[in-house]
Amino acid sequence: MTDPAIIAVDGPAASGKGTLARKLAAHFNFAYLDTGALYRAVALSVIDMGGQVETEADAVAAARRFDMSRLADTDFAAALRTAETGRAASVVAAMPDVRAAIISAQRQFAETPPGGKAGAVLDGRDIGTNICPDAAAKLFITARADIRAERRWRELQADDATLSFETVLNDIEVRDARDAGRAAAPMRQAEDAHLLDTSDLSIEEAFAAALALVEGKLNR
Ligand code: C5P
Repeated sequence: MTDPAIIAVDGPAASGKGTLARKLAAHFNFAYLDTGALYRAVALSVIDMGGQVETEADAVAAARRFDMSRLADTDFAAALRTAETGRAASVVAAMPDVRAAIISAQRQFAETPPGGKAGAVLDGRDIGTNICPDAAAKLFITARADIRAERRWRELQADDATLSFETVLNDIEVRDARDAGRAAAPMRQAEDAHLLDTSDLSIEEAFAAALALVEGKLNR
């Protein structure tokens, strides 16, 4: 059997990386893993267990106990998407022992994609640099902070119409700074990753650009 083809898609919050990663997975019939959901799930589990996300021992205990199959529970998956969970996720994600506890699940997914698929697409912050440094294709998706905040604000409006654009922009800026500034596997473009700025692109245009970059790598 040949090794699975791995596509690493990294970038900041609301850059469009999740949408592009899902579309790439569908296009190639590869398995898809949203690794941000793992950090969100750990944060939510800490809260469910009555712990504090800022308390490292609570976060590490939740990460060590975390079972990936919980992501299939639709109520749990819906709770993962809130702004509050995103904020809490970036707090637990800065803790090295939390990251260490969920590394092997991510690598195993990439190396043995579920469903016997021929490849895997993983999106996150450190896939190209840390989780799958040998990925066949690496993309770093970005967009200006105001554009990302606008996209996230529109999404979150459905659940909370009182949320202001300024709050969402501030959240995004704080999260970018925490994710890029932490010591443990900070968000960073891998040297061999292609940079794609989606600020002025429609989803279709961004996908066409991403696909061309990935095909250029996979067909080598
Ligand atoms: O991508 P998403 O917004 O769901 O990620 C939530 C948080 O999880 C990020 O702000 C980041 O702190 C963390 N994360 C990470 N490494 C990844 C994926 C997400 O640190 N590979």
